Amino acid sequence: MTMKATLVREIGAGFVAEDVHIAAPIGREVLVDVKASGLCHTDLTASRNNIGYEPPMVLGHEVAGVVSAVGPDVTEFAPGDHVVGCLVQSCGHCEACLTGRTFQCIHPEETLRSAADAPRITDAAGQPVAQAFGLGGFAQQALIHENQLVKVNDAVPFPQAALLGCGVVTGAGAVINTANTKPGDTVVIIGAGGVGLNAINGAITAGASTIIAVDVADDKLEKAKHFGATHTVNSAKVDAVAAVKEITGGLGAHSVFDFVGIPAVTASGLEMVRMGGGLYLIGIIDPTAVLPLVTVGLIGTQKRIEGVYMGSTTPKRDIPLYADLYLQGRFNLDDLMSREIALDGVEAGYELLKDPTVTRVVITSGLS
Ligand SMILES: [Zn+2]
Ligand SMILES: [Zn+2]
Repeated sequence: MTMKATLVREIGAGFVAEDVHIAAPIGREVLVDVKASGLCHTDLTASRNNIGYEPPMVLGHEVAGVVSAVGPDVTEFAPGDHVVGCLVQSCGHCEACLTGRTFQCIHPEETLRSAADAPRITDAAGQPVAQAFGLGGFAQQALIHENQLVKVNDAVPFPQAALLGCGVVTGAGAVINTANTKPGDTVVIIGAGGVGLNAINGAITAGASTIIAVDVADDKLEKAKHFGATHTVNSAKVDAVAAVKEITGGLGAHSVFDFVGIPAVTASGLEMVRMGGGLYLIGIIDPTAVLPLVTVGLIGTQKRIEGVYMGSTTPKRDIPLYADLYLQGRFNLDDLMSREIALDGVEAGYELLKDPTVTRVVITSGLS
C-alpha cells in the first residue's frame, strides 16, 4: 500500500513528507491506521544526531490509532481495536521479560523483521526506509509487532492516547514503578516540562503527600501547581536545596526526580534526598554530564542514585491503567495537549516546542 510518511532523508536535514510503500503484516505484526502521533524530543535528537538509526527513516514513537489488519500469528488484536504504541521492545520469553522487566529485554530485535524478510517500509524508488524504535509513527499507517502495542479504551481521544506511549509512562512510571512511591511520601520533581508534569500525575496516583516542583520558569511552575504540585520552587530565584530542606522540615525528600540532566542540577538533586532516599535520573540535556561523588557521604546517608528507562514500565499493564484513570478524571492528560498539527508540519511542530509554555504537540491531521 502507498501512504504518506514524514521522513528524515539525512541527519540534520529535517522532516519532509513523501509517498512510501508499507508492506502487509506478517507473523505477529499489526497494521495500524495512525490517528494521532506525538512529537517527542527524542525524535528531534535522532533527526539531528546519529543515535543508531540511519536515514532514510520514519521517526515518531507516540502513536495512537486503530488496527486495520493483523498478521496470521497475532492473537491479541483484531481490526477495529484502539491501540497505543510503546517504545519498549520486548521478546516476551527472555529472563527479563519473564520476571516482569520487559523494559530490560535482552532480545528487543525480535519485535522487528529479520534481514531475510522484505522491509516493512520502502520509498518510491524501492529503497528500504528504517522504522525508528519499531514504531514509525510520523506516517498514515504503522506496522508494529504486537508486543509493542497496547489496547486502550475507545473512549480515550486519540491525541491523549498517543501521549501514553512515551511521555506519560516515562514520567509517571519513574515515580510509581522505579521509586515505588508510597502514600505519604515526599517527592521532588526537577523540571516541570511535559514529562515532569506526568511525574506529578504519578505522584498523585501513588499518594505522595508533598509534591515539590522545581523549575526556572514561573509559568511552568504555575502549570505544575495546576497538575497538583503542593509546593513550587523557582531555582533561578532561590537556593532550591535550602527551599526543599525547609519544606521537608530539614529532612529532604524520599525521592528526587531529575528531568533536566545537567551536572549542577543533578548534584543539587542529590542534596535534596533524605537519608535512605533516592535520586532518579531521567532527563539528559547534557549527555556528557559527569557527577562527582563523595562515596563516604553516600554510605553514611544510604542514598541511592538510579538511572530510569521508560519509567520501568510494563506497557500492557501500565498504559491501560493510566487510560482508565484518565477516564475517571484522576489523571490529567487534557492539559498536556498544547497544539495539534498536520503530518507535513513536523519540522514546524518542533519549532513550536521551543516555546516553554507549549507542553505537547501532536499530529492529528493529514493522517488516515
Ligand atoms: Zn519519547
Ligand atoms: Zn525479552
